[in-house]
Amino acid sequence: MSSLSSIETLPVNGVTYYLPKTTEDLSTLIESSRSTGRPISLRGSGHSFPLIPDSEAMDACLYVLMSYFDSVSFDDAKQRVTVGGGCHLGLDPYDPTGRSTLENSLFYQLFQHGWAIPEMGGITHQTVGGFLSTGSSGGSLIYSFDDMLVSLSILTAENPPQLRTFSVDDADPDGFHAAGIALGLFGFIVSATFRCVDTFNIEGTETISTVDNCAIDLFGSGPNDLKSWMQKTEYTRLIWWPQESVQKMVVWQAKQIPPVSGFQPKPYQEVPAIFGSNIPASVAADMIYSAIGNWPDWFTDTFNNSPESRLFADLISSQFYPMILPALLSIFVPVDDPATGPQQFRDYWWSGLCMDNQMNDKLMPVKFTELWIPIDKAPEVMNELLDFYGQSGQNTDNTGSFCVELYGAKGGKFWLGPSYGSDVIRIDVFWFANTPKDPVVTLFQRYWDRFAKYDFRCHWGKYLPTTIAGQSGAAYLQNQYPHWAAWAQLRQRLDPDNVFLTPYWKAHLAL
Ligand SMILES: Cc1cc2nc3c(=O)[nH]c(=O)nc-3n(C[C@H](O)[C@H](O)[C@H](O)COP(=O)(O)OP(=O)(O)OC[C@H]3O[C@@H](n4cnc5c(N)ncnc54)[C@H](O)[C@@H]3O)c2cc1C
Repeated sequence: MSSLSSIETLPVNGVTYYLPKTTEDLSTLIESSRSTGRPISLRGSGHSFPLIPDSEAMDACLYVLMSYFDSVSFDDAKQRVTVGGGCHLGLDPYDPTGRSTLENSLFYQLFQHGWAIPEMGGITHQTVGGFLSTGSSGGSLIYSFDDMLVSLSILTAENPPQLRTFSVDDADPDGFHAAGIALGLFGFIVSATFRCVDTFNIEGTETISTVDNCAIDLFGSGPNDLKSWMQKTEYTRLIWWPQESVQKMVVWQAKQIPPVSGFQPKPYQEVPAIFGSNIPASVAADMIYSAIGNWPDWFTDTFNNSPESRLFADLISSQFYPMILPALLSIFVPVDDPATGPQQFRDYWWSGLCMDNQMNDKLMPVKFTELWIPIDKAPEVMNELLDFYGQSGQNTDNTGSFCVELYGAKGGKFWLGPSYGSDVIRIDVFWFANTPKDPVVTLFQRYWDRFAKYDFRCHWGKYLPTTIAGQSGAAYLQNQYPHWAAWAQLRQRLDPDNVFLTPYWKAHLAL
């Protein structure tokens, strides 16, 4: 076995990360964790907030990045790809190791090979291991990333460590259904094998209208309602700005088209390009939202907290929702001009389906909590949201000044999948992060308490409730999963010494 001191290290966010290169190194890390009692905190691209930042802030773990586990190999006979757990789906511009490139990403290599995976999230910075472990997915009820998974190789922390394969073809597929989404608690995902499809391109539109003029029957339950639209449209995503005097709906939709030769992409523009770059618009949005997020402290501080400055700040605050926010959003989220119509785009699958990749994580840092509810409840959920916002959006404590994303996910078989057993509608609550306010206290708890009656499940890579509806968050979350007890038992068997049980998961799951 290798020794801990022979494994490469890298400082990231004030802690030391180990960068193992072989399964032997991984075993060394497991044994070191077992003997020192420092649990292993495994980071993919670190896009799960607050999971990864909280773990790093505690400096109580053995930190590991699986960046060297990024190989990609093709099985042409079966049209399958096997990829290392540390491989990024696309380029990760924030990879602290600097190893991630477009060329070594999974999706680009698949594209070069003439293949595709027909579903992904709004960004592709994530690693294969992180995306799978948190049950992440994009907005489709027709295609699913998880459906394409054939098998997983996981190095578990049994004594001694075991490299186990969990496959859809196993005689008893329970292990596969438990391991498919395991929060990183079954061990190191060394590699994953996926079925692939032939490459394709996409085309689509983005329509920006008022909520009243939206072409989808957002709050009804007839043939043109949200559920029917999500069921028949291949890729969908809505952004709702619910504030009074704003009331806008941004509808992004796309479908697959054949990959004809001579194809000329016309990429989707999420924010207006200035001098060919998205950065100026992102900087402007960051400055505006930072000013809002720190209001009124930065203003009154500038004027030494004088009574006049406080009076003026109060005056501006009273006009924020009626006038200032609507005026700002008319620049950043302008309703479609009838003369030019909605934005139309066409692209390759790997660069087109991830519509949020252009947003800069540093300039527009966003935190989220995400509630997944069976799609049959979509009409009730939409009306509940409307009521929550105050019908015309006047309940500013609940609307906040940012937006909410609505999208779907296909039902799945993984026991801890938030769409286990049923297609779902997802309410993804956005929180602009450059503010000293606490997202949970200020906003997220309101959603959790209000929607608990729908038995929502949470996105595992986003904020999770610590208390909800009079019980602990852990008890609530466990109750949402019919196979919870069997999953927890298997976890215990694969990791008897809790090598992978970080303080974050211990607290949130009461394991
Ligand atoms: C801007 C932004 C946009 C997003 N868009 C979407 C979206 O459209 N859809 C969606 O569903 N989610 C979305 N997310 C959430 C994101 O997909 C998840 O948080 C995802 O897990 C991040 O992957 P990661 O590689 O960063 O994993 P990390 O956040 O680094 O880790 C997540 C978990 O996975 C575990 N893990 C990582 N690698 C391995 C491995 N090799 N073996 C075992 N366990 C491992 C970690 O231990 C940890 O528990 C978004 C997040 C951000 C910040």
